[in-house]
Amino acid sequence: MIRNPKLFYVALATAFIGVIVRHGASIESSLGMQDVITSLPGPTLWLGIAGALIVLSLIPLGRTGRSTSRQDPRRLFVKEDIQQVATYVNTMTAQEEPDVKLIVDYTIFQAIAADTSDIHFDPMRSGMALRYRIEGMMKDVTVIPLALSGPIANRLKVISNLVIYKEALPQDGRFGKGGSGQSMVELERSGLAKADFRIAFMPTLHGERIVIRILGGGDDYMDFTELGMADQEQRIMHRLLEQPQGMVILTGPTGSGKSTTIYAGLSAVQKQTHAVRSIATLEDPIEFDMEGINQSQVDEGRDFTFDKGLRAILRQDPDVIMVGEIRDPETARVAVQAGMTGHLIITTVHAGSSAAAFSRLLEIGVAPYSLNSALTAVIAQRLLRKICTGCKKERGFTEHDLRDLDMATPPRDFKLFHGTGCEICSGSGYHGRTALFEILEVTEPIRKLVADGASADAIEQHAREAGMRSLFRTAIDAVGVGLTTPEEVARVISKDER
Ligand SMILES: [Zn+2]
Repeated sequence: MIRNPKLFYVALATAFIGVIVRHGASIESSLGMQDVITSLPGPTLWLGIAGALIVLSLIPLGRTGRSTSRQDPRRLFVKEDIQQVATYVNTMTAQEEPDVKLIVDYTIFQAIAADTSDIHFDPMRSGMALRYRIEGMMKDVTVIPLALSGPIANRLKVISNLVIYKEALPQDGRFGKGGSGQSMVELERSGLAKADFRIAFMPTLHGERIVIRILGGGDDYMDFTELGMADQEQRIMHRLLEQPQGMVILTGPTGSGKSTTIYAGLSAVQKQTHAVRSIATLEDPIEFDMEGINQSQVDEGRDFTFDKGLRAILRQDPDVIMVGEIRDPETARVAVQAGMTGHLIITTVHAGSSAAAFSRLLEIGVAPYSLNSALTAVIAQRLLRKICTGCKKERGFTEHDLRDLDMATPPRDFKLFHGTGCEICSGSGYHGRTALFEILEVTEPIRKLVADGASADAIEQHAREAGMRSLFRTAIDAVGVGLTTPEEVARVISKDER
């Protein structure tokens, strides 16, 4: 076995040059290349070949070859399916002196390769479950032996610059692009330094639970079309974002893709050449690094809160401000005020539906009058898994489907599809996701309802009558065109949201 491929190639190149230099003349004549070669001075040609070979021999290997990366897995891993990840982790952890750094790097690398959003290390009585969240669903990878849970936790704390001995208290930090110090050096080697991670430790009954959120790896953010937004919805979005002032709110549970939509929105604002505007964001955390936008990350531990950050941004002459989330009265008050005084505010609020966002803001203390003057639209969002195109098959209606879709009888020409499971979707029948939107534009009648203290239901009712397409309606259409299944709709949109 050759331990160092570079040395091998240098030796090979040197031997080859030796042969050429000694037998150059005879090779020339035997190949019939006399005419071509005599046009160049002999020694220059050989020196050229020698130089080229030495340069070639110095080019690092292991970028593509699976076998080289297996020999030195820390240099670069190969993407593997979850079954193989389990096998490899089990082999590594079963060794007499397991290489903890290698296990950590490998599990993180494989998670990124599998488009995982979060990596979970869940302590149990018998070991530590390694699980990946892929397309919103938890996938069990393997169980790591109990003896390694401490060393793995320590290793992750070291690269996140956290305190190792603090096991009885929750801690959180970052590593990768957003980290600093030792973590950068360590990650450079495994190639993970390009990505960005947020990590949280929490003491539980059987040890520390660790969750790593993988933030955008610097990939291009999506535009509205890639998000699955219909043309009509895109037109509304562009119109909303062209407004010089006001407030656009996104709402939906965690993991419903709100940040992705916000980044798509900011990118759309940036592309509006007719209105060149200064854009600033206040995020927790910064998920994508966007060129040309002033992004700041709040740090509540250091008292850099949303409301303080927002006031600071307002002193820097912004046109468009993205506030990651409004969750306290002070931020709500400053944001609404800014939206009334010549700034376009894009933000998110935790609420079940678009209409419920009004009640949420009134609840945290925004006056109905201010809300009415600032708010231009509320957009509710959900992510639906798409049927895998590799194994998509038509299927009949069941009683269950009718319940999931709130239908009495199957409509005519309404076909159902499902994925039967294949290699592409790892047997799940789903591959990729699409977003659903419900856009509630704040019109005069809605302002009147808000001023009169109407309920979220009444606001919703009015918006629907005025032509707003509800999340559920959009989801049924997605089933109708064979994009997703009734079960998936029922999973994502609860009964009381219909
Ligand atoms: Zn499939």
